[in-house]
Amino acid sequence: MGYWPILLYLSMLPCFLVVLLCGERDIFQGTFVQKLHNFISGGACDYFQKVVGFCCGERGEQACAKAEDVCCDRPNPILQLFYLLLLGGCYFAILYSSLHYIPGHYVSGLHRYMGPLSGVFGLCLFLAASFADPGVINASTITRHHNTYPYDNVLYIEKICTTCKIPRPARSKHCSICNRCVARFDHHCGWMNNCIGENNLRFFLAFLGWHVLLCCYGVCVLAAILAGEIKEHRLIQTIRWYIGHPATYHEISGHVLQWLLVYYSTQVLLIIFLGILSLLLAGFFSYHLYLIFVNTTTNETYKWDRRQHWQQMQAQAERERNSVDTPSDPVPQRSRMLVKCQEIFCCKSGPNLPIVVDVNIYNKGIVRNLAEVMFPIAERTTLSSSASD
Ligand SMILES: [Zn+2]
Ligand SMILES: [Zn+2]
Repeated sequence: MGYWPILLYLSMLPCFLVVLLCGERDIFQGTFVQKLHNFISGGACDYFQKVVGFCCGERGEQACAKAEDVCCDRPNPILQLFYLLLLGGCYFAILYSSLHYIPGHYVSGLHRYMGPLSGVFGLCLFLAASFADPGVINASTITRHHNTYPYDNVLYIEKICTTCKIPRPARSKHCSICNRCVARFDHHCGWMNNCIGENNLRFFLAFLGWHVLLCCYGVCVLAAILAGEIKEHRLIQTIRWYIGHPATYHEISGHVLQWLLVYYSTQVLLIIFLGILSLLLAGFFSYHLYLIFVNTTTNETYKWDRRQHWQQMQAQAERERNSVDTPSDPVPQRSRMLVKCQEIFCCKSGPNLPIVVDVNIYNKGIVRNLAEVMFPIAERTTLSSSASD
């Protein structure tokens, strides 16, 4: 009787996560999923603002705009609380529906303790990634961060952060949400309510990797519980007897699935939910592992993409300039973008443009790249200087 809220929660959550995390992907272009993603991530706020403006006037609309600014453009714990709700909800659903099956035919009693312990460890990693210093650059830390990475003069040149008024070290970025400069800036993570940078990237990676394992562990234990129940109820023999003739694998699996959906629907939904979640997290984890292996960051990937786009535009403009038949660039917007890109990358354009080979100078091989994340260079220099003192 009390299972229906859990079933509803488990049915809705995977759909919501897929829409929220993957709605912008190419695979969902022009589909209902993309429209729903746009609605959740922005459209809903606009509609709500208009409705409030219609009902309460300009002051109501301004209050909505302020609330949106606080929720989306400033540090806030909304997604952190959502993560805790997700973790707590999953554990409650598993404990409420499946704890009494442990120990079972294929599940040792040890899992009564291993499950909660692994959840608590996941929570510790979440707290470490959320509250650890990501590598904030201020007066006391600027010297050691300046010595960490050289300027490559492609993505990074020596310049002053216009907000913090400090010289910005290579690979750092000013986070507009947290309003601070962060060393080896990767991205601002809403789930952690923190920037992911040089010092806490290892905790973020460990958090992702551990949660992939945690989801797989949950799927395995639940599947083992169901396998044990099938065995204890002698379900396969009963189905064979019921069918009355040598049953095929397809016939048996269909009846087993029906039986599981009737009597163990919560466990089946939990397996599906954790399976989808593990795939999403594994994709995200693999992406970040790849970035670490080639020693780049999410921010730098974006910068390289923009640089490539700029080079393509520049080549196109060059072709049009050289063409006798083609009139001069009819799109002034392109010129404006070129100027903007030149400012970003500090590059010059012209007919005798030197061929620049884009090389990621920070890539030193997988082992050293990984060591840089696990033992950040800035921390190493701090430790060695404190040891020499
Ligand atoms: Zn700054
Ligand atoms: Zn930030």
